[in-house]
Amino acid sequence: MTDTQAIRAAVAAAHAQHGADPGGANASYIPYLASVPAHLAGLAVVTVDGQVFEAGDARYEFAIESISKVCTLAAALEQVGPDVVREKIGAEPTGLPFNSVMALELHGGKPLSPLVNAGAMATASLLRAQDVEDRWRQILSMQSRLAGRALALSDEVNRSEQTTNFHNRAIAWLLYSAGTMYCEPMQACDVYTRQCSTLITAVDLATMGATLAAGGVNPVTRERVLAAANVPPILAEMTMEGLYDSSGDWAYTVGLPGKSGVGGGLVAVMPGWGAIAGFSPPLDEVGNSVRAQAMVAQVARALGLNLYRVPGA
Ligand code: GLU
Repeated sequence: MTDTQAIRAAVAAAHAQHGADPGGANASYIPYLASVPAHLAGLAVVTVDGQVFEAGDARYEFAIESISKVCTLAAALEQVGPDVVREKIGAEPTGLPFNSVMALELHGGKPLSPLVNAGAMATASLLRAQDVEDRWRQILSMQSRLAGRALALSDEVNRSEQTTNFHNRAIAWLLYSAGTMYCEPMQACDVYTRQCSTLITAVDLATMGATLAAGGVNPVTRERVLAAANVPPILAEMTMEGLYDSSGDWAYTVGLPGKSGVGGGLVAVMPGWGAIAGFSPPLDEVGNSVRAQAMVAQVARALGLNLYRVPGA
């Protein structure tokens, strides 16, 4: 385990150096996201032994957005296992934007990844549920257990998204027509939209990542949240599609499975070590937070964290 002083110093330095970087713009296609103060920047590390390090606005609550796809994937893996997820959703990068209709058309309606919108709605639809509230409860419960506290829906974010999510509704119906939607399509879209609308902090996000890094046990609450066998498929999906169209670049330059959201959050996971999470609203052109990428990458570099690095070499 890296000594605590080194982690504290790396977190403080990365925030000081990149917490006010210029460039990027808030997501504007969801009205709520456009209104979040752009100057906010938070950074957090949680280790597999439950230590928490933070800098800046690490306790500011922001919309989880696409990062929720990781939690729903975890819930589905717990119920149906990796083989069914791979067969019905897929395990390939789409190479196209996260809400691409073309990606579906090109692959016979198979989403390929649970971390794009089509795949996330199909994943939510895979959960065995009695009704929409039951499906939602299961997803919120997984998010909360990964974060180690009871998360809640923001009515404001949810309203903002439910009244503007026409593109996602169309994707849900396309999945249905292709036979790759496993519950009533508008129920899946409704639940998916809610799952994007919960509020989290950078500390929550780092705790979620650290739970994966610890093989499925939340290092803060000590609860086993998912089976150890379900962690590698999640990290593999994150590597392939976690940072939208720049997932490959991120793997090449940082070398850690990650997931970002258009709310400005980003988490990177080092298996067996812990997770680094950043938050700042301005996004680059593919949808990743400009400052979160810079801060998280700097911490990883400073602490020598890279999945592809050969130990001792
Ligand atoms: N709710 C957003 C959407 O479905 C999430 C997108 C994201 O964070 O990638 O468009």
